[in-house]
Amino acid sequence: MKKHLLPSLEYAHDALEPCIDARTLRLHHDVHHRAYVDGLNAALENLPGLQERTALWLLCHLDEVPEESRLEVRHSAGGHVNHSLFWRCMQPAQAGGPRAPSGALLDAIDRDFGGLPEMKACFEEAGTKLFGSGWVWLARDRQDAGRLSVLTTSGHDNPAMHGSFPVLLNDVWEHAYYLGHENRRSEYLKAWWPAVDWEEAGRRFGVSGHDQEEVWEGEGGQLLVS
Ligand code: MN
Repeated sequence: MKKHLLPSLEYAHDALEPCIDARTLRLHHDVHHRAYVDGLNAALENLPGLQERTALWLLCHLDEVPEESRLEVRHSAGGHVNHSLFWRCMQPAQAGGPRAPSGALLDAIDRDFGGLPEMKACFEEAGTKLFGSGWVWLARDRQDAGRLSVLTTSGHDNPAMHGSFPVLLNDVWEHAYYLGHENRRSEYLKAWWPAVDWEEAGRRFGVSGHDQEEVWEGEGGQLLVS
């Protein structure tokens, strides 16, 4: 059986401070994300026909998962996929990457939101208003001429389940911010932007221009995810 693995962080636990404090990042990656990976591996132990599939494939083909395991696979595979995407969409300020989007991604943000500040405001508002645990996304619609939009998902659902390609995401489960920002989710969302890796967002935007089926069906491929 292919084991799903916890990806290592490409930066130190304290590297995203002050956006995300070291204690939060350590718990979030080493404990929470690991639990989703372990849960997924456990759920798949009795599902031999699905053991070679990627977590993203499972999430996008839940109808092929036996009903009694479906909820666990949805939660664990989604938790694994989303957190894997999340770690990779951030980088330490010291890494010296671009502080803002550029090129085709910036053009699309300008076209679909009227500018970067407008997109950020929309993203923060959506994340703040989401009731309960979930994620906020900048995603590219498969239909509608590849329009960018901000959307939210509950639990660990992913826009790929509904035909949108994730470009950028933030985690608004309390475990993502409670130690540093207590209950102030909107403060966390505002403080998070300097941690964004805009090069990675641009790369995902570029990939989203290809036939997404290829991307989703690929074993990891451009989108990552084991
Ligand atoms: Mn999380």
